[in-house]
Formats: sequence, C-alpha cells, structure tokens
Amino acid sequence: MRFDFVTLFPELIAPYFEASILARAKTRGLIETAFYNPRDYTDNKHLKVDHTQAGGGAGQVMFAQPLDFLLSQLRREAPGLHIIFPLPAAKRFVQSDAKRLAKKERIVFVSGRYEGIDERVIERHADEVFSIGDYVLTGGELPSLVMCDAISRNIPGVLGNEDSLLEESFETDLLEAPTFTKPENYKGSLIIKEYLKGNHAKIHALKRKLALKKTQYFRPDLYQKANIKDLEEKK
Ligand code: SAM
Repeated sequence: MRFDFVTLFPELIAPYFEASILARAKTRGLIETAFYNPRDYTDNKHLKVDHTQAGGGAGQVMFAQPLDFLLSQLRREAPGLHIIFPLPAAKRFVQSDAKRLAKKERIVFVSGRYEGIDERVIERHADEVFSIGDYVLTGGELPSLVMCDAISRNIPGVLGNEDSLLEESFETDLLEAPTFTKPENYKGSLIIKEYLKGNHAKIHALKRKLALKKTQYFRPDLYQKANIKDLEEKK
C-alpha cells in the first residue's frame, strides 16, 4: 500500500515512519510513503498557497490552484488512487473504515492548514472526508497520520502477531477486556486469578464479561448498540 501525504509540513509526518512498527513495514515493503508540498505546485512567483476568506472572516484559506493542479496530476498518473481530506466537519473515522481502507492500493491524504481549504477543491477531488474527533487541530497532518496508522495495522503482515487484532477494542462491538503482564503482584495489586489458571475457555468467558462491563462504563453508546446475545450476559 502506498500513502501519499499532501502537506505544507512534510517534516511533521516523515519521522513517524522512522521507528517501530511502521518503520519495519516500510523496510519490508509492505507500505510506501511519498510527500507532496502544495507550495511546489503554485503558479505565482511568491509561492503563496493561501488567501483571505471570501466574504470576510478571520484567518486565511488554502486556495484552489496548487491543490487542484497537484491532485489532478496525481489522478492522471494513478486513476485508482483514493483521496481523503481530513476535516473537523466530517463524519468520524472509525475502525471499520480502517479495515476497509487497508484493502486500497494507494491513498492520498490532503492536509489543510490555516482556516482550511477552498471547498471547491474538496468537492472536486475528495473520495472521502473524515474527522478524527470533535475538536479542531491546527492542521491535517496529525489526523492523516492517525488514519494512516490505523489503516496500516490492518494490512496483512504489518503487525508481528495478527491475532492481536482479533480481541482489540472495536473489533467486536466491545472495548478490550483489561490486560496484565508480570509480575503477578505489583505493589499489592494482583492480576485477576482466573487469568493465571490456564483454562482458556474460562478466561475467554471472563474476558467477555469484563469487556461488557468496561464498555458499559466507558462507552454506554457502544454498549447500547452491541450485539449482546442474551440478557444473562448483561448482568
Ligand atoms: N475552519 C475549520 C473548521 O472550523 O471546520 C477548521 C480548520 S483547521 C484549523 C485546519 C485543518 O486541520 C483542516 O483543514 C483539517 O485538515 C485539519 N483538522 C483540524 N481538526 C481536525 C479534525 N478534528 N479531524 C480532521 N481534520 C482536522
């Protein structure tokens, strides 16, 4: 899978791929990255990419020409690519989007800055738009990385142990049950006994119960929607 980042600040994104799982995925050829700076595609001699807002309003807006030129060029080169604009005013990016998008061959993330991007560029080029949460960040670089990371984990071979995907939060309708590691007694706080007895059926049943409780406590919205088979489970 190839990830293209359209950004005025590639230096904010590039280092993320120099460590840990995504660095390994790059070395093994499972993911590729490329960077495009809209400033390199302007047709004005001052390399400007932003103007004041039409109709007034605080802050600048990224204007259409450089982004339209660049994205049209990328689309001509690779008609199948999938262009995503991170936007606070969009539907929320969720785990099922990460899994679905992991099957694409090439994704382009277009980061806004200032007060955002001229709406006409988004209308012309977006295959999808996503928000990563109900807050406003200074730019689209972090949202692009957040989505890229979540997508990459779902590309076969990227995680060392793919079983770790199976019981994670949001994989089912529930959050993941609590996890522990050694030592058994940490400053007087013990690991749940059942986890240590080696009876996998019992551990599985207990984890399911704890996942239900955790979801009910932290995410009552998910709990309401969860596919909970029988009322016994809800107790
Ligand atoms: N004026 C815009 C608004 O009120 O919706 C906010 C623009 S924001 C300061 C600049 C850029 O950051 C956006 O174009 C987008 O790329 C990115 N951004 C900020 N918050 C985001 C969020 N919660 N989800 C996705 N992208 C976000």
